[in-house]
Amino acid sequence: MSNVFPKENLSILIDALDSMQEALVVYGNDGCLLTCNQAFLDMYGYSAKEAAPGTHFKALGIIDIRRGNVVVEDEEGEDYLQRKASYRKYLKGSFTVKLQDGRWIRTTDRPMPGGSFVSVHVDITELKEAQQKISAAESLARQHKRELAKLNQSLEYQVVERTRELEEAKLIAEQQARTDPLTRFNNRRAFFESAAIIHESARRFRHPYSIMMIDIDYFKNVNDTHGHLVGDRVIQELSHSIAKTIRRSDIAGRFGGDEFAAILPETPALDVKVLAERLRHSCLDNTLLVDGNKIPFSVSIGIGEHQSSDTSIDQVMSRADDALYQAKQKGRDCVVVSGSTTPRSG
Ligand code: GH3
Ligand code: MG
Repeated sequence: MSNVFPKENLSILIDALDSMQEALVVYGNDGCLLTCNQAFLDMYGYSAKEAAPGTHFKALGIIDIRRGNVVVEDEEGEDYLQRKASYRKYLKGSFTVKLQDGRWIRTTDRPMPGGSFVSVHVDITELKEAQQKISAAESLARQHKRELAKLNQSLEYQVVERTRELEEAKLIAEQQARTDPLTRFNNRRAFFESAAIIHESARRFRHPYSIMMIDIDYFKNVNDTHGHLVGDRVIQELSHSIAKTIRRSDIAGRFGGDEFAAILPETPALDVKVLAERLRHSCLDNTLLVDGNKIPFSVSIGIGEHQSSDTSIDQVMSRADDALYQAKQKGRDCVVVSGSTTPRSG
């Protein structure tokens, strides 16, 4: 030290210490202040008299306590007052305290030869505030992340739910678009979609299939005599009879009004005729009662069989249609197979 700062230059050293932003104080081995710079007085608000050389370490601590200079918040600063109030020959290391006015001071004590020690105090308020801002921002970011995750989860759940509901609604709508509301049978469009598949398969594998057309006889009379609602019940009764008569692999449909059709794969017309006769009888024997009275109704049935020369299902349909027309012509309540000369049944 003496090499760098000869005694005659002491005033330069004092000026240098006073121009420092950091507060600096040196205590002797008896705990009494040897010297301090202006920044030390300014930092803690000591007067030159209060922090005059010879002032005991403890006396400064008592001033701090009396003025409430120090707010002990920092873990490291908890023993600040004890440090200040009790003399310790060698204070090593650093601690941070918060002053009443909000400043944060970082103190570093270093022992010097002979038992004295130097204490450097740095105002780290800006650093602390920046750290606090960062940690507040981090905690906010964590909170936002948690909220976002929750929101995402609930959105994902809602998307899954809405998609499921939409799919269900779509299925129901598709089903409704294919279904006759009165009988729950296929409507004409759905019937032809399924029938086309059966037709294609039968054509490719040269298998037989037949179509039967069923129409209620004098249905207008039922409506006129008993009313439209009873007419509806007759239509439903016929749909139940058809469902009971055909196989699960057969497809039935209501074409609107009192007209029904069924396509029966793997079944030649003469086999269908047997089923058709059973159906016709079940209509005659129906158990539909309105106000305790039986509602009689009969059906006419036309059957058309697929021929290997047919290029489309329409040819089979028109065969069945013609046969139905013939059944009506014959006086109704009968089954006619297209191309056959079967006499009137029943
Ligand atoms: P045919 O023996 O020649 O078949 O005589 P029909 O009286 O049955 O004549 P047609 O088949 O032409 O009559 C169909 C009637 O069915 C006409 C219409 O008022 C009635 N109808 C059509 N749709 C419905 C319905 O959904 N409910 C009721 N109750 N009647 C219907
Ligand atoms: Mg009719």
